[in-house]
This record gives sequence, structure tokens and C-alpha cells, in this order.
Amino acid sequence: MAACTGSTHRLEKKADAFLRSLEREIIPVYIDWNKAGFQASVSGKDEDYRKRSEVELAYSKILADKDKFSSVKAYRGNPAIKDSLIMRELDIMYNTMIRYQIDSAMMKKLINAQEAVEKKFSTFRAEVNGKTLSDNEIDSILMNSRKSADLEKAWKASKAIGTLVAEDIKSLVTLRNEIAVDLGYKNYHEMSLSISDQDPVEVSALFDELDSLTSEDFAVLKEEIDSILSGQLKIGRDKLMPWHYQNRFFQEAPKIYKSDPDQYYAGKDILQVVIAYYEGIGLHVQDIIDRSDLYEKPGKYQHAYCTSIDRAGDVRVIANIRNNQYWTNTMLHELGHAVYDKYIDSSLVFALREPAHTFTTEAVANFFGNMASNPKWITRNLGLTPEEADKISVDARLYARLEKLVFSRWCQVMFRFEKGMYENPGQDLNKLWWDMVERYQLIKRPEGWDNPDWASKIHIASYPCYYHNYLLGDLLAAQLSAYFENNIIGEKEPSYTGHPELGEYLVEKVFRPGSRYYWNEMIERATGEKLTAGHYADQYVKK
Ligand SMILES: [Zn+2]
Repeated sequence: MAACTGSTHRLEKKADAFLRSLEREIIPVYIDWNKAGFQASVSGKDEDYRKRSEVELAYSKILADKDKFSSVKAYRGNPAIKDSLIMRELDIMYNTMIRYQIDSAMMKKLINAQEAVEKKFSTFRAEVNGKTLSDNEIDSILMNSRKSADLEKAWKASKAIGTLVAEDIKSLVTLRNEIAVDLGYKNYHEMSLSISDQDPVEVSALFDELDSLTSEDFAVLKEEIDSILSGQLKIGRDKLMPWHYQNRFFQEAPKIYKSDPDQYYAGKDILQVVIAYYEGIGLHVQDIIDRSDLYEKPGKYQHAYCTSIDRAGDVRVIANIRNNQYWTNTMLHELGHAVYDKYIDSSLVFALREPAHTFTTEAVANFFGNMASNPKWITRNLGLTPEEADKISVDARLYARLEKLVFSRWCQVMFRFEKGMYENPGQDLNKLWWDMVERYQLIKRPEGWDNPDWASKIHIASYPCYYHNYLLGDLLAAQLSAYFENNIIGEKEPSYTGHPELGEYLVEKVFRPGSRYYWNEMIERATGEKLTAGHYADQYVKK
């Protein structure tokens, strides 16, 4: 090969040696950090949480090292390095390390400001008629009350947190933008996407594509929602206000269809159902189950997550299983993350032994989690009679469509608002928020209402510029389903059960490559096309 000159070869050897020594330093601390995190989640003990913070600090010290970072930067910027795997590893190390290069005074300011806002969020209680209510209580009123005046009060009370934190968040936005400019980016939104290995232009294009594929059907569905809700609430359709949609943000499907899938899950050992399902598609999960902590305990973390402790096969799940649909979905979801981690090619270097992107592992997890509301899956895996199967299938399909369409329009609001806010933080943000809500969710802003409702969404403060990944995960899950149906089993809307070809396909095309390719290249290699909103639209938008 003419391009492979002696100097290129020597340089690549040098870069590789540098990366291997960096890896040797990182791996043991990384493993300790994950082990400490798992231990803290299971026990809930202060001393275990303290241990985790200590190890995390040691880990961040390695990544903050200025000399090591400038070596990564220098190798990464050297066009003489041709080896694509070395380049990919350098990109990933650059993205990992850059977030630790923030000026330490600024970092301290940022952490303090974030903590202050988070504290306000966790101690805030909405007040209705002189009574303080938790988020759960507000949600329950919005979901169950049919009295317009009560709904309005509860909704407005829940927005009081916005007023309380809006100025704090504006300062946070300014600070985040300063940090971004300091590190060479236009603003924090652009920086967040870039350092999480996403091209901001590419992501915006996907949101535009999905907007044009969903806007008309959503408008029709919204008419249907409005007419059902106006009947339930006994008010005119033109009187429907944001508090009538059963959710603080209209981010979830309102209950307009009758459906009670939980009855089919009661009395089943859902862990065994899920294990048998995965075994049936050729993905072996028993070793993961054996290492996991799956049932409730005092002091234990109350939700669920999956962790790959050493990126070398020690994959574990934390959960609190009950035999219902929610936990079936959750276990299918977490084991989706787990099999992804487990089957990554173990011969890759440490930095590449990760999913291609957080949203690609979310996609696989959602792909499996969705099964818990797929009528054919439920029928096969829970052993329903044909009559029961008929009964759930119509509602389940309508409900899935409603859920996805409502959520996708809400994600449009979040993505576009955050982008707009970081690009121009000085504008009237209350107006920007309601312009987005009116345009994408087709919800009317209350008359004379000028409140920072955007600030009442905790993600804006605490998990900035991440929300779009939930939607990208949904798009990819639909694309993987479509590829499997059309190109592997040639059957429309299958039960996805008992097909070892499914496991084989995912292992070979999605899991094994880890992050050796940019996510969109992995997707193209796995499905024959780059990520598109088209399959999501086929699956959920068209009736
Ligand atoms: Zn997940």
C-alpha cells in the first residue's frame, strides 16, 4: 500500500503504545468505580455512596490530566495516522476527556449551581388550596379528576417550581455557554451533541424528517383525543386547556382507550417468562441474572438499571421485580442493555467495548421493552387463549400508536426549545416555550399566562441536551424491527418469539461491533441505510 509509509507506521505504533498505557491506568479504577456504584445501589448505605464518590474522583483525575489530553489531541489531529480503529479510539478518548478539561473554578461554579437547582426541585411541593402536594399526588389529580377547576389548580400549582428556578437556570445556561465557548464550541447545545459523538446538523435533520412525517397524522389524532376528552370532561372542545391532558406536559398518552393488560401478568413468574424468552431467541441471560440483584430490599435503589462492570462480561442488573406489565417491560428493557454489553467483541480495545452510542443501547432496550405491550408477544409468552388475544390486540395497537405519537411531538418541543435557548439565551424564553408547545403539541397557551413553564421540566436544568436521545432510540428500534421483519424472517408483525435468527442478527450486526464505528455507520451496516424516521412512521403513524 502506497499510503502506508514507514513514518505512518511508526507514528501509529507510538499512538497505540500511548493508548495502551492510558488504558492500563484507567481500567482498574473504572472497575472499582462500577463495583462501588453497584454496591451502593444494593445497600443504600452512606459509607458505600462515599466509597463510590472517592473512586469517581480518582477516575476523573486520570481523565483530567492535561498532558495526557494534549497527547490525545495531538495524535487525533495528525493526518498521518490512517488506522481507522486507532482514530476511532482517539475520537472516543477525546470526547471522554474533554468534559474533564473544564477550568476548575468554572467546574466548581457549575456543580454548585446545579446542586442548588436540584435541591429546589427535590424540596418543592405544589400548593393547592393551602395543602402541599407531592409530584405523585399532582399526577394523580391530573390523571383521575374530571373537574376542570381542580385540574386547572393542580396544573398551575405544579408550574410554580418554574418561577422558583427560572433565574437559576438562566444563570446555568450562561455558565454552560461560557464553558462551551472556552472549549471551542459555539454554544453548550452544539458542544453537548458534538462531545457525545453526534453531529448537530444530522440530529436536526432527523427531527425535521420526523416532524414532517408525523404532523398531519398527529393533528388528526389530536382531534380524536380532544373529542374524547371533551366528552369525558363535559366541556366544549374549544375550552380544552393544557391541564386537561392528564399529564403536566402532555408527554404521555391520555387514557382514552379501554385496556387493562396487567390482568394477564398477574400470577405469572415474569422473571422466568423473560429468561425463557431471551433463551428462545438465542441470547443467553442466565449468567447475567445470577450476578444481578432483582428483588426489593430495605434501603435499596428503587428503580432499575444495567451496568457492565468491567466491559469484559461482568454485566449486572438492578431491579425490584413485581409480577406486572411494568416490570416485565422493565426487565425486558434492562436485559436488552445487558445482552448488548455481554456480546460486544471482547477483542476490541477497552474504549471501543461499549455500545455505539447511549441511544443505540436505549434502542435495543426499548425494542425488547416494547414486547410487553405487543399483543402477539403477550399471547405467545403468557399463554393467552385466542379469545383473550383478540380482546387485547385492537386496543394494544391503538394505544401504542397514541403513546408514540404523543411522545414524539413532546420530544420535538424539548429538542427545539433547548437548541433555541442555548443559541439565544437572551430571548423571551416563556414565549419560545409556548410557541413550541402550540406548534408541535397543538395545545393552546392559557390566556394572559406568562410563566416560565419551561423551567418546570427538570431535564432542562439537570440533564441538559440529552432528551432527543429518547426519540432517536425509538426511531432505531423501529428500524431494527422493520429490517428483521422484511429481511430476516419475511413476516409482518411477528411475535418475535422463538427466533434464534433474531439474536444472531443483533449479536453480529449491532452488539459485536461495539463502538468501532460511528453510530450511523453501524446502523447503515446493520440495516442497509442510515438512521431514518421512515420506519417509525410506518410502524406508528400510518393507521
Ligand atoms: Zn435504558
